[in-house]
Amino acid sequence: LTADGLAARLAGVRAAIERAAERAGRGAATVRIVAVTKTHPPAAVAAALAAGLRDVGESYVQEARAKRAAVGTAGAVWHMVGGLQRNKVRAAVAVFDRVHSVDSVRLAAALGAAAADAGRRLPVLIEVNVGGERSKRGVAPGEVEALGQAVLGQPALALEGLMTVAPWSEDPERVRPCFRLLRELRDRAAARLGVELPHLSMGMSDDFAVAVEEGATWVRLGRVLFGARSPGAWRPDPSAGGESS
Ligand SMILES: *Cc1c(COP(=O)(O)O)cnc(C)c1O
Repeated sequence: LTADGLAARLAGVRAAIERAAERAGRGAATVRIVAVTKTHPPAAVAAALAAGLRDVGESYVQEARAKRAAVGTAGAVWHMVGGLQRNKVRAAVAVFDRVHSVDSVRLAAALGAAAADAGRRLPVLIEVNVGGERSKRGVAPGEVEALGQAVLGQPALALEGLMTVAPWSEDPERVRPCFRLLRELRDRAAARLGVELPHLSMGMSDDFAVAVEEGATWVRLGRVLFGARSPGAWRPDPSAGGESS
């Protein structure tokens, strides 16, 4: 992917976000793009930053750590969007600025402890399995409030909102109810927990416009910016322990 190619794709995405925000009567400035660079080399992160993107999303701790070491820490904000194992929590806190995928009380406790030890307050979102798919992570809609309470009980975590990976469909209109449900769950949890939950992390390459219409504040975009992924195309060098520069 060339810098020009990425710039052109980004311009198209931004225009689509603007149109969707306008249809929903909201400002496009409230919608931010997380550039999901998983499987792509550090050069993709550098290209994203050069194109004016700031927020980078990754799904694996080692991969993100290696890219962060290669690209340097200046400028980028790193988002964990994948499943997080508890034995990786300390490493994750060292690498990521925000975690979108808190899906259990135990993970919240581990993240809270690691963030406290690191002397940080870590912004997090709760991942919800709105489609009820077996293959997806996330808590059931009925468990959002209880997990929210647990996250709020961790002083080193800052609960910002909810995240979902909607079921895939050829027709993005079919996933609109999932995005709407996430927004309703957010509104309900904010009222019941008595906190503001400003963020909804929802919408990916195939359905981000619909997600914006339903209130997304973070859209997580991979393929529409960087092209198709080929798994294993780029891997951190294991001998370097992910710390190579
Ligand atoms: C890979 C991934 C994305 C990006 O998906 P695209 O369809 O490539 O836009 C977004 N969110 C999560 C959680 C992902 O794992």
